[in-house]
Amino acid sequence: MGMLGPISKCPHCQKIPSFLLFETTLAKDSPLSRNGWKTITFACPDCHAIVSTQIDPVAIRSEILEHVEKVIAPLVQEQSALRSQIATLQETLERILRPQR
Ligand SMILES: [Zn+2]
Repeated sequence: MGMLGPISKCPHCQKIPSFLLFETTLAKDSPLSRNGWKTITFACPDCHAIVSTQIDPVAIRSEILEHVEKVIAPLVQEQSALRSQIATLQETLERILRPQR
């Protein structure tokens, strides 16, 4: 927003939009491709011309989180198994080192 309010014009209809519409869609390298990038488009609310597109940052964040969770899950299980082994070892040591009467 400029000092006098919004001044950016839609390149298609030349109107000054007070907001943009966004939609999520898929960007593919060919019409036959099944997969693509989750994408977000920004459009003029008056004429619906697309004025900008970008990779959907929310989708990217979810994909990264999913991947990190998959990598971390077995490590968390391993850590929990190690903790219970340490607890067992500590009990055994305490039993062995307990003064005999
Ligand atoms: Zn427009």
